[in-house]
Amino acid sequence: MAGHVIGVDIGTTATKAVVFDLRGRVVAHASVGYPLFTPTPVTAEQDPDEIYRAVIAALRDVVRGAGVAADDVACVAFSAAMHSLIAVDNEGNALTPSITWADNRAARWAERIRTDSDGLSIYRRTGTPIHPMSPLVKLAWLKDEQPQIFAAAERFIGIKEFVFHRLFDRYVVDHSIASASGLLNLEKLDWDDGALAAAGVTRERLSTLVPTTYRIDGAPRGVAAEIGLAAATPFVVGANDGSLSNVGVDAIRPGEVAVTIGTSGAMRTVVERPMTDPAGRTFCYALTDGHWVIGGPVNNGGIVFRWVRDELAASESETAKRLGIDPYEVLTRIAERVAPGSEGLIFHPYLTGERAPMWNPDLRGSFFGLAMHHRKEHMIRAVLEGVIYNLYSILPAMEELIGRVHAIKATGGFARSGLWRQMMADVFDREVIVPECFESSCLGAAVLGLYALGRVDSLEVISGMVGATHRHTPIAQNVAVYSRLLPIFLTLPAKLDDEYRAIAAFQRGA
Ligand code: ADP
Repeated sequence: MAGHVIGVDIGTTATKAVVFDLRGRVVAHASVGYPLFTPTPVTAEQDPDEIYRAVIAALRDVVRGAGVAADDVACVAFSAAMHSLIAVDNEGNALTPSITWADNRAARWAERIRTDSDGLSIYRRTGTPIHPMSPLVKLAWLKDEQPQIFAAAERFIGIKEFVFHRLFDRYVVDHSIASASGLLNLEKLDWDDGALAAAGVTRERLSTLVPTTYRIDGAPRGVAAEIGLAAATPFVVGANDGSLSNVGVDAIRPGEVAVTIGTSGAMRTVVERPMTDPAGRTFCYALTDGHWVIGGPVNNGGIVFRWVRDELAASESETAKRLGIDPYEVLTRIAERVAPGSEGLIFHPYLTGERAPMWNPDLRGSFFGLAMHHRKEHMIRAVLEGVIYNLYSILPAMEELIGRVHAIKATGGFARSGLWRQMMADVFDREVIVPECFESSCLGAAVLGLYALGRVDSLEVISGMVGATHRHTPIAQNVAVYSRLLPIFLTLPAKLDDEYRAIAAFQRGA
């Protein structure tokens, strides 16, 4: 029996491939990058042909790097970024670039669908908030803005479907990627007629729905040989990257929540059946028959600390660089000089509008409570705290659905800082565990692949594969401070709806 498994993650900056042994240890990894084209501030596209080539190259590199025999790989299983949309003609050629989750051109269509088509009830059936990121909304935009392409397209697919079509000449979409399109009825696991009508498409123009455990045995000979795999190696379609990341960090049991702060951020947990929020604050995506992932994404994660590094503390960062020290480390050391709570300074980190829990692109950042005793170090600490408060703001919506959360599994670039990790434990008033984490979506895909093959009984095997690198318990004194400041942070934005709209309109030049 084959002793290895390959997880592939088709991401927004690169495709990563990792060869694992059956205990989850990394044997080799490869990453092949590609650009995100942003010709306007609201456009974010990629070249699907380039991504297909990157998938093949990453697989070839990782098989070579691992030095495994061609028949010693149990399967190749896939993760991919959600929400991409590509129009293709009847030969499978792309008529549009891959329009990614970060593309905002459909913003006005999101507003229209929210009001005209009863967006809340579409969300409650499909689990995807009505937002310009969602393929449903992008389709409505494409139909109006590029009618010739819309009419000429035989199908509308996502990036993983594009890759699978190139490999196997068939259009299949797993329930997990489909559930993030805004078009899938979660209870029926079928396309939702109301959502299709709002998007302006018929089901014939979408891919065939398959479970995330769906497998195709054997890439066409030439491709298998190019990659270095046996001709019969199974390819498992897998799921979306966020859901698989929860598997890869071992946050799949009740009450366990994964919180990621990289450039952006997210909070996610796994539940046994589809669940949506009456107030529309959280998403719900499919993983397997008995695993569904609910949570919320935020725009304003580490990107806000990057803004501090470059704009607010540029001279400190320059000095750090000259001394060969990571500027983020210098800035967190400066922030450490200030007591928790930043002596009453609160930062709302909405520099790029915000998704969960308010889903309002007009939100804007602010310092609240500034006084003469505040210095730059207070501002730096307040920013770090504001990013954590912002993630915390999703927790009440989650707990209304699932009950008390008792364990936080924290990942992403922020976890390099001990100060920031402890801050999370203190703000959340829960234990924070940092799992061993290397390409968690690839590991999640690999475990799902083994499950699809029947080599493991359940996804829970992951707990024997992932250890922890850090643990932080809340410090009572700090928890007391944050519990006084959190209500101020949480209630203020709700009071400023008109003012956010007005300042955002001013900034747009309207
Ligand atoms: P991505 O989400 O793009 O994959 P990462 O997960 O590496 O990126 O996260 C990048 C973010 O992590 C940076 O924007 C920064 O806010 C934060 N970060 C990186 N290094 C450190 C550090 N040493 N201390 C604190 N924060 C850091």
